[in-house]
Amino acid sequence: MKTTRQSNQRQGIVFILSAPSGTGKTTVINGLRERFPEVSLSVSYTTRAPRSGDIPGRDYHFISRSRFSAMKAKGEFAEWATVHDFYYGTPRRPLDRSIGKGKDFFLDIDVQGARQIKKEYPQAVSIFLLPPSWGELKRRLGKRATDNTKIIRRRLANARREIQNVMQYDYYVVNRNIEEAVGLLEAIVLAERQRISRVLRWRIAPLKGESKALSRS
Ligand code: 5GP
Repeated sequence: MKTTRQSNQRQGIVFILSAPSGTGKTTVINGLRERFPEVSLSVSYTTRAPRSGDIPGRDYHFISRSRFSAMKAKGEFAEWATVHDFYYGTPRRPLDRSIGKGKDFFLDIDVQGARQIKKEYPQAVSIFLLPPSWGELKRRLGKRATDNTKIIRRRLANARREIQNVMQYDYYVVNRNIEEAVGLLEAIVLAERQRISRVLRWRIAPLKGESKALSRS
């Protein structure tokens, strides 16, 4: 997309996306990736086992509890949390490197992580993805062949708890259908990029022929 003639240097933005399981987060994130190929997506470290379809290094770095604890002790996580009895953490280095270069960075993390990131990176933008209804969330969770009933029940209870935190977020998006949800996220990303407070240096290239027109008047 050709946007403006300005090339204003700005800070990279940290976008936080939280969504309870079954909200359609993965599909929405894939849609975002297509729309914004230049945006980096954080790859978290986790102690949970890979599920079928998970690709190590792309979806998560799958590590042992002892390795996770060692990384935590060395301060290598920008945030970390226990989710569904497993540890999850966002590595600090790729995040800092990306925003330092002015590149936006997306985090798919839970509400505990969102709270920590907002504290450390106050300019971060947090977005909560909601299911259209409880009935729909139950139906979507039930369709996951990889999880058993006990896990589904626990995920539903966690979702209920997570959704109670929606008021701590900057934006919400209801995932009624994928096009609408990705469209809303796109609008948020584009608007946040236009915030004056994020601009580090202001530049406006002269319009073609403008100087001639000016000298004639
Ligand atoms: P799943 O295991 O189903 O991929 O993810 C479970 C939950 O953990 C999701 O709500 C996801 O957003 C969250 N999660 C994934 N990575 C991280 C992370 O690095 N930090 C935190 N706090 N939550 C994470």
